Amino acid sequence: MATTEWNRRHILSLEDFTLAEYDIILRTAASFREVLTRRTRKVPTLQGRLITNMFFEPSTRTRSSFELAAKRLSADVLNFAPGTSSLTKGETILDTAKTYLAMGTDMMVVRHKQAGVPQAIAREMERLGTHVGVLNAGDGLHAHPSQALLDLFTICQYFDPDSPRTELLKGKKIAIVGDIVHSRVARSNLWSLMASGAEVHLAAPPTLIPKQFLEAFRSNSGSLSIHWQIEPALDNADIVMTLRLQKERMGEHLLPSLREYHQGFGITRDRLALCQSHVRIMHPGPVNRGVELSSEVMDDERISLVQAQVTSGLAVRMALLYLMGGGKGP
Ligand code: ASP
Repeated sequence: MATTEWNRRHILSLEDFTLAEYDIILRTAASFREVLTRRTRKVPTLQGRLITNMFFEPSTRTRSSFELAAKRLSADVLNFAPGTSSLTKGETILDTAKTYLAMGTDMMVVRHKQAGVPQAIAREMERLGTHVGVLNAGDGLHAHPSQALLDLFTICQYFDPDSPRTELLKGKKIAIVGDIVHSRVARSNLWSLMASGAEVHLAAPPTLIPKQFLEAFRSNSGSLSIHWQIEPALDNADIVMTLRLQKERMGEHLLPSLREYHQGFGITRDRLALCQSHVRIMHPGPVNRGVELSSEVMDDERISLVQAQVTSGLAVRMALLYLMGGGKGP
């Protein structure tokens, strides 16, 4: 496996990722996906390395997925839990990071409810002259690169299971429906989907979709449209990505009620009739059942890729840790 084309120590945002980098990740994840089907689902790639998971915000999927990815690569893993840590005694985040550095951490996977924390840790690691790589596992409303990369892998793999690659997305219509304004997942997905040449259609009530999105994500490759109704976004869509209504981030009353949201923007079997017959539904999780998706759609494995996203997440996170760690191939 070629890592010579990979030059990033940190993965903090997808804003400046090149198509070549996306394709390296897709290829690498495909080989790790194969490892995960073997009887021994483990490789010695990162043996002796130490990976520290620093999650300052709740997480089920992402934290477990990074932990398992590290273990499948034979790395040692430390899991930092803010509630029982010295943070409660007033230690700063950078001092916490330095403590893990002193223990010999090679990579830090960081999630924080405030945008910019993983970047600040990465800067500190550089300032100290270390080789520690920092991976952003979700910072505030800003970015969630590993989620967007596993989404990219899931979609490309759906269109060509043997050879997932960005070129498969050219001209595909991808609808992103839901709480766009609070979604770091949507922001990261926009970089990767637009760079791959997809036609992205965002749909949400006006309070959940900032107009500046059109400006911020203008690109030469893909196209981006905004709709305040769901139908034009679903019309002939190849893929529908739904987003969780982030109740914890909604300061003001941006919606009349969850029931009304479901009536206007929830994905139901009837609404799917507007899409291409091969349409597939995605959601980064956790799902508010009956709000973003009807239970019937979510549980129908013929159209829902939600579980496939979780499975892809493991292969993609193995690929990211492997590439950042410059290890030997599977
Ligand atoms: N799990 C994703 C995130 O951390 C999506 C969500 O929470 O809605 O951003």
